[in-house]
Amino acid sequence: MGNTNKLEIDVNGARTSLAGLDRQGLADALGHIGVPERQRRMRVAQLWGWLYVRGVTRFDDMSDVSKELRAKLAAAYSLERPEIVSEQVSVDGTRKWLLRLPKRGHDMRAPEVETVYIPEADRGTLCISSQVGCTLTCSFCHTGTQKLVRNLEQQEIVGQILLARDRIGDWPGAAAPQDGRLLPESDRKITNIVLMGMGEPLYNFDNVRRAMSVAADGEGLSVSKRRITLSTSGVVPEIGRWGSEAGTMLAISLHATRDELRNELVPINKRYPIAELMAACRSYPGVSNARRITFEYVLLKGINDSLADARALVKLLAGIPAKINLIPFNPWPGTRYECSEWGQIEAFADYVNAAGYASPVRTPRGRDILAACGQLKSESLKTRARDRVATQHANEPDVVG
Ligand code: SAH
Ligand code: SF4
Repeated sequence: MGNTNKLEIDVNGARTSLAGLDRQGLADALGHIGVPERQRRMRVAQLWGWLYVRGVTRFDDMSDVSKELRAKLAAAYSLERPEIVSEQVSVDGTRKWLLRLPKRGHDMRAPEVETVYIPEADRGTLCISSQVGCTLTCSFCHTGTQKLVRNLEQQEIVGQILLARDRIGDWPGAAAPQDGRLLPESDRKITNIVLMGMGEPLYNFDNVRRAMSVAADGEGLSVSKRRITLSTSGVVPEIGRWGSEAGTMLAISLHATRDELRNELVPINKRYPIAELMAACRSYPGVSNARRITFEYVLLKGINDSLADARALVKLLAGIPAKINLIPFNPWPGTRYECSEWGQIEAFADYVNAAGYASPVRTPRGRDILAACGQLKSESLKTRARDRVATQHANEPDVVG
């Protein structure tokens, strides 16, 4: 089991956190400290409830676990979540956490990622990261200017859900956080999860799959698979596998309907062009009119926002059970793109609506705290990115648009 090895290795000698492990990972962890095989199932069930129903952060709170075992667990493991460096609250209630992760292997310094909570009238969505940075370089994405540092571990992915629940008081009987900014009861619950933070989740397949199995587990965090959406830039060979092994909802970052333009906006398109991507969508396991694929389309002024583009989009998606999610471009320091004019966004949305797609324009949330799509990026790296983009501009006079 990969989990077994991970439990043994920790370069800093820090104790491995159990918070975020799946059942197999917990069983292995118990095995490591000498819990006999025949007891493990029962012990895993106990831990599961404490970790994922109650959200406890101390072994001592696990009142039905024997004192002796609690001591053994505490000596070998922790229940830590990723460390919160900062928490920002937007005027619209969106919250963004900057998290610091422990250094591993070849990390030069402690990596950082971001998690965003977006409360809405009928739902609360948590947008989580799957990698530190991203190996892909979509030209309109802030994260894409940051080099990949590493994949997130299973605990670091689930840990984002746990700490968000800690901070917004979303555990049964949870006490209000000290800062007095607790959201009203009706807004509290995290009902949906989107893998739309930093990173390309299909390039961290196993950790993301295990983490989502923990999130979806009906005896624990209980976020149903229909309320979990994985967004991919189009890693075609992994799409079908994700559908059959994880079975969550799928979102595709499409953004262009012609290969020539998509090659530029979403460079992975050069490897897996649009026709192959559409074929993978058509055969996505479980796809139906009740389980549609979301196509994300960021509207970039003068680049992909004409009515001809809207027509091409509708034509391309014909025959695929689809939803269209139009995203006004969220600018970030140093970008060469601009958000489409509001009138143009409306005209585009009207066309797509008239063609039979409910196509909500995704209202940008948390813009004041740079928490909107594609703006995620650790504070500490911003200066460097600005420099980099400025250099790029100087060297590349053929800026699109
Ligand atoms: N790597 C995955 C998931 C993270 S990005 C993917 O690309 O799908 C989540 C969504 O935000 C994607 O649709 C992405 O294209 C979009 N996005 C990135 N930068 C953006 C920006 N500056 N403005 C609006 N949307 C952006
Ligand atoms: Fe990576 Fe997604 Fe950003 Fe592209 S849009 S660079 S795949 S995070």
